[in-house]
Amino acid sequence: MKEDTFRHKGLRARLVEELVAKGITNRAVLAAINAVPRHLFLDSSFVKFAYQDKAFPIGAGQTISQPSTVALQSQLLNVGAGARVLEVGTGSGYQSAVLTEMGINVFSIERQPELFKKTQTFLPSLGYNRLRLFLGDGYEGLPDLAPFDAILVTAGAASLPQKLLVQLKIGAVMVVPIGTSKQVMTRIRRLSDDNFEQETFGECAFVPMLSGVAK
Ligand code: SAH
Repeated sequence: MKEDTFRHKGLRARLVEELVAKGITNRAVLAAINAVPRHLFLDSSFVKFAYQDKAFPIGAGQTISQPSTVALQSQLLNVGAGARVLEVGTGSGYQSAVLTEMGINVFSIERQPELFKKTQTFLPSLGYNRLRLFLGDGYEGLPDLAPFDAILVTAGAASLPQKLLVQLKIGAVMVVPIGTSKQVMTRIRRLSDDNFEQETFGECAFVPMLSGVAK
């Protein structure tokens, strides 16, 4: 049942306070997290945990990222309404919904057909119609729709996904967790055609970014 009750809204408001306490300052990000009914993105058995700051299984061996990670990545993109953002790893669609709430035009790629199909009907059912979903390999990006105002990778990349770098506008950033068992949240800015700058934002844990489309 797609219910968003006062109780859910209350739990969300508390989660937003927790994110503020953890250092999230971007108002558009906080407003989006306050607006997206995260409990509807989880399997029903996990609903009561939906507003805790934790990651949870979503099927196909994948997870919905924890809210503080979604908030941090959204904030690090440093873009606002109207921006065109490429997301790698649609997963549950929660991060896509948060970006859409921020007024961002989302292009999101998923390699698991099962998850792709689910979000294709689920996100529009919640009123998120503007975003575009693709079944494909995020390592390839979407060259025909590039360049983007920002790129967000929501799976752990063993090394920097090279083909994505050239799909950034000059001045735009890619936020990507880099590493294998654990990752370092990394932000790469494209300063010119072939000049990039790198910053890091602490350790994180994501499911691995894998090549190719899954069977
Ligand atoms: N943004 C998601 C997080 C999902 S976890 C959310 O809010 O729920 C990471 C997702 O990345 C998984 O669904 C996984 O299947 C996907 N993934 C991993 N490697 C990928 C690749 N090369 N291309 C596209 N998606 C990929």
